[in-house]
Amino acid sequence: MERRLERLNAKIVRCRRCPRLVAHRAEAGARPPRRYRGERYWARPLTGFGDPRARLLLVGLAPAAHGGNRTGRMFTGDQSGSTLFDALHAAGFVNRATSERRDDGLRLRDAYITAALRCPPPGNKPVPSEIANCAPYLLDELRLLTRVRVVVGLGRIGWQAYLRARQALGARRPRRAPTFGHGAVTRFDDGVTLIASYHPSQQNTFTGRLTRGMLRAVFHRARRLLARPTPATRRAQVSRRGLTEAAGARPR
Ligand code: SF4
Repeated sequence: MERRLERLNAKIVRCRRCPRLVAHRAEAGARPPRRYRGERYWARPLTGFGDPRARLLLVGLAPAAHGGNRTGRMFTGDQSGSTLFDALHAAGFVNRATSERRDDGLRLRDAYITAALRCPPPGNKPVPSEIANCAPYLLDELRLLTRVRVVVGLGRIGWQAYLRARQALGARRPRRAPTFGHGAVTRFDDGVTLIASYHPSQQNTFTGRLTRGMLRAVFHRARRLLARPTPATRRAQVSRRGLTEAAGARPR
């Protein structure tokens, strides 16, 4: 599985499907703000990263022009990442609460981070054709991340991207149509739970729409959900209990 993820990631970093985003990622690197002048930008698509055997999957919007697009890792080197890793750390999904550089020693535990788009869109606003162009990469990741049980959609676009990807993979729709709102939970028949979260963008955190406490609560909930037995484990427990009871009732 790890080899296949590596092959997928090698394909992603060469992608040039969206001319507008290819131009924007290069432009950001060519004309950085004063604080990043002299830094060499990644300026290529970003892959997902984390634990290939993860049970928690995060789906964000896209890298930031001067965050991930600069450092080469999603949610790294910007304010969104600082809010996100604080929350992941509080729930034990990561070994440190900050994320500044690709080589800062950060390790995800039982978690994998990806996004609906791998290149930064101007103004954080992708157009529908760009979302569609990038969607096959998320599908490929979902095919490979077979242990995922809880998904956190960071922002409406990431949340929708996951729902679309499930449908494209032939999963059954939930009985009740999912609605987006911070903390909204959708449970699927296959045992996967989707939690919606506001995106930890500066726009949300500076205005108080999303606080650190609100984001921490999302990952604490994910942690509690992962602590529950899976449907398969529950079935096995019930069947073991049945066998034990039957053996106890048998005449000796
Ligand atoms: S956003 Fe996705 S599809 Fe578009 S160029 Fe970047 S990697 Fe390719």
